[in-house]
Amino acid sequence: MRSSLSCSVRAVVLLLGCAAFSHAQAPYGDINDLRVNKPDDKQDVAIVPPPSGATVLFDGTNLDAWVKTDGKSAPTWELVSGNAVQVHGGNIMTRKPYEGHFRLHVEFRVPYMPKASGQGRGNSGVYLQGRYEVQILDSYGLKSLDNDCGGIYKVSAPKVNACKAPTVWQSYDIDFRAPIFKDGVKVEPARISVIQNGQPIQENVKINLDNTVAGMGGDPSKPGPIMLQDHGNPVQYRNIWLLPLD
Ligand code: MG
Repeated sequence: MRSSLSCSVRAVVLLLGCAAFSHAQAPYGDINDLRVNKPDDKQDVAIVPPPSGATVLFDGTNLDAWVKTDGKSAPTWELVSGNAVQVHGGNIMTRKPYEGHFRLHVEFRVPYMPKASGQGRGNSGVYLQGRYEVQILDSYGLKSLDNDCGGIYKVSAPKVNACKAPTVWQSYDIDFRAPIFKDGVKVEPARISVIQNGQPIQENVKINLDNTVAGMGGDPSKPGPIMLQDHGNPVQYRNIWLLPLD
């Protein structure tokens, strides 16, 4: 009697566990019905460990380096399996601002949302200094525009579409140079290069704006945080680090 009761309890616990797990995974689903261009598009990108000298911004354990964009509230993004965090409850930004020249490494994946389209499908974004967005979106298989994945939002389309399929882990290595000001006058614009999944997609692009759409704005001569966008879709991030360059 006792053993059958214990079996039943275990079965219920197991079922509840499975239900919770499938709920957490639900937006990610499976992509068996998605036609992929090549098998590698279904392979997660390799995790790139932070090099020496890098500041780890997120390693899966906590969001201590991050805050909501009010500058004081703790983020409500959810830690999920795979040392990842899922967008939830508004944009977040690093507690510290950054300036000068640095590389930002970000790994991300977008949910499979076959019934959504355009900017409503797996939208998020990485904002350098809170002002310049490198778009995150499910743009798999599209001819990429400047508002697609890998685009510097409304400034520059990626040179190639280097996207992996939705649900598959991808990476950005963003080389950012802050604009240079002398006596309050901008003498050099911000510049951005991006490597997506090992392929160069943006090369030393001049950003002749002080803020892309939905950026935080502010004085462009001042340092700014890294901001990650909540655009209402359960995009996930993992392994984020920043390496100052000379
Ligand atoms: Mg976006």
